[in-house]
This record gives sequence, C-alpha cells and structure tokens, in this order.
Amino acid sequence: MLRFAPSPTGDMHIGNLRAAIFNYIIAKQTNQPFLIRIEDTDLARNIEGKDKEILSLLNLFGLLWDKLVYQSHNFSHHQKIAEYLIAKDKAFYCYCTKEFLDQKREEAKAQKRAFRYDESWAQIHKDSNPKPVVRLRGAREEIGFVDEIKGEISFNPNEIDSFVILKDDGIPTYNFACAIDDMLYDISFIVRGEDHVSNTPRQILVRKYLDYTKDIGYAHLPIILGESGSKMSKRDNASSVSWLLEQGFLPQAIINYLIAMGNKTPTEIFRLQDAIEWFDIKHIAKSPVKFDIKKLRFINREHLKMLNESELALLLNTKDVSVGGLAKLYLQEASTLNEIRDKIDSIFAPKDIYALYEEQDFSEPCKILYEAFVALMAEHSLALREYESLKAELLERTGLKGKNFFKPLRILLTGTSHGLELHEIYPFLQLFLTDIVRLKD
Ligand code: GLU
Repeated sequence: MLRFAPSPTGDMHIGNLRAAIFNYIIAKQTNQPFLIRIEDTDLARNIEGKDKEILSLLNLFGLLWDKLVYQSHNFSHHQKIAEYLIAKDKAFYCYCTKEFLDQKREEAKAQKRAFRYDESWAQIHKDSNPKPVVRLRGAREEIGFVDEIKGEISFNPNEIDSFVILKDDGIPTYNFACAIDDMLYDISFIVRGEDHVSNTPRQILVRKYLDYTKDIGYAHLPIILGESGSKMSKRDNASSVSWLLEQGFLPQAIINYLIAMGNKTPTEIFRLQDAIEWFDIKHIAKSPVKFDIKKLRFINREHLKMLNESELALLLNTKDVSVGGLAKLYLQEASTLNEIRDKIDSIFAPKDIYALYEEQDFSEPCKILYEAFVALMAEHSLALREYESLKAELLERTGLKGKNFFKPLRILLTGTSHGLELHEIYPFLQLFLTDIVRLKD
C-alpha cells in the first residue's frame, strides 16, 4: 500500500501535493491501494476543518483514495506497542524534567557539541516527576537506507539517541505513530519531503525493535525554492495550493507542472493519466528546484487550450457557450481563468469613456460613437450582424477617422484600448450588444 500522510496543522503546500501525486502515481503503477492517513497526533496544533479541506483538495486533483484513516484512532495500538517495547527493554520511562533537559541542552550548546540524550539520566527525577515520557533506546549500530532519489544514506548510532515515543500524556510522537502505522498498513514505499530524511532512521529503528523485516522503500523529495532562490515559505503565496487555484490555475495544469519540475518528461504537456504510463521517481533531480510561475502559466494556458467552449464556459460559471467561445479566443493573451474572467468582465462592464486610455482622452469620439451605436441598436439595424458592416455604417454615420474611430470602438466594446482583433471577437459580442454597449454613470 502507498500512502499520503498530511498533518491537519496548516494549508496544503505544493510540496505536500507533489508528494501526494507521486505516491498516487506509484500506487496506480503497481496496482496497490492508496491510503490517506491524517496525522493528527499533534493535538495542540491541529486546526479544526483542515482535514476536510485537504481531502477536498485531493478530490479536486483527482487523487482518489482507497482508504482513509485518522492516526488518532490508532492511539491505543501505539500505546500497546510502546508497552511491549518497554517489556522487551527496547523502550523505557524517562522522568527527566523539562528544566533539566533544557539545562543539558544549554550546556551542550555552550560546549559547542550536539545535544545527545544520555540514558543514565532516565531515573534522576523519578521521585519528583509523576509524569514520565517513554523513550525508545537509541541506535547501537549504523542505520542506513537507499533513497530512490538521493542514493544511499546512513546514520551513525550517535546521531540517533533515545528519543521520545510517548509524551507524558500518553500521546505518541510523530516518529513513533508514523513508524507503527506504516507497518500496520503494510506500506511498501514512501515519497515525502526531504525534511523527513533524519526521521527515517528513527522510524526504521522502531520497526527493527519490533522485528518487522519488510523493507520499506523511500524517496525524499528535494525542497522547492521560491523565485528568490531561498526555501519557499508559507509567506510565498504561490506555495499554497488554494492560492494557485484561486488565481485560476487548473488542477490538471498544477499537476502537470509539479510532475515536470526537476524531471525529464517525454512531453511537456500531459495529464495525470499519461504520467502513470511513464513516471519514474528515479528521474527526479536530487537538487532543489525553483518554482517557476512563468512555466506554470505556460502549462496552464496549454491545458486551457485543450478545453472546449462549453467546458470553458462552465469554469467561468456560465452555461453560455458563446462566453466559452470568447474565452477560447482570449487564450491568445491570457494564461489563467482569472485573466480570462477579467477580460470578459471588462467587456460586460459599463464603459468609462472619461478615463484616459494610453494617456489620451477619447471621451468626445466615444460619445459620438456611442450615440450612433445606440441608434443602430434601436433600429435593429442589419449592419449590427457583422463586424465589417457595422464598421462601415458607424464610419459613415460618425465621420470619425483612424485612431479616433478605432480606439473608441474598442473602448465601447471591450473596455480597453488594445487587445484582440475586433473582427475576431465581434461574432461573440454581437449576441450581447445591449449588455456591452453601456456607459458608466
Ligand atoms: N505528517 C507528515 C507531514 O505532513 C508526514 C510525513 C510522512 O509522510 O511521513 O509532513
């Protein structure tokens, strides 16, 4: 079984989504079930409703799961297994107070050495501290694993000291709950962010003490850098999956981009289903990748181009296929749904003829043209049916020429003074002229 294990403690980051996509693809490629495990062990940091939000995003991206579990439902298993490890002397109660450990940490810092827990401290505060934690005995030998992206990674025993597996309230720590659940659900391969590399030997050690012999494969994904070249943080808007969706990026384009990042793909534009045919985690580059929104915009536009007029209309919240047709034309200049929406909104908004367009005042010719246009509409003139006949009729009726004719015409029809060829968009506009040719008060 493959799994994606989000913590409901914050918004879904593109790095999380990337891990979810890769785990999903591998599950499909190897015909194994895909599990979503909500890692809600950090009770204080859990945010109400985040689990549902993550699940609905996964749903939207088409990453459908075969099984869903909440880690907290397994706490009693975690606690029983901790007791078993204590009985086997692979884990022990530690009564150290927080103050004592903080002091030891300070001492290590002052001596410029890494802090390591010393098992001889375990009982020191037994009489004064009624709430011990449970720690797993640290590694006695080297622990290594082969990472499908990074290659062989190994840790010296002194890097893995006795770490906490149950907190003083009996709640398991992330490393322990994760190690146990990966075993209980028979996970075969794990793709996750590289911030978890140092957790992996700890999780392997837990299972080793339980004599679990099945090898779990790992691939740790390099971090994603922001445009500035430093690690993308929560403050970078583009790191939030919801933000990207709000900007009008399509789920299929975001997926395409996240798979293509730091990867060699047979084609530049593809769908999730295509990637299942050829994706190989080994081809993901080891080095950090930079998030390139320009590339995402390009990919998004290509995916928008693959949609037909009614699909586009639906995404723009209208059933009117002509709006979809107009949207399709605007793909010559727009790359996201929001940009298309802005163009279309500008067409249907009352026109501000007193604004400056390219620093020029076109209010007078706009007024003249508007009057002539309204008259044609009142007459239900046949000239309105086609752009060429409309143009000829308006030229004649207004006597306007050149720029003083074409700019105002464009302003009245689209709300801007530049853009797509009017003869291209007019067939669509022609259907809604009374909504379009209106002036702002
Ligand atoms: N809950 C962890 C996270 O969101 C999961 C890490 C893992 O996949 O093991 O980072």
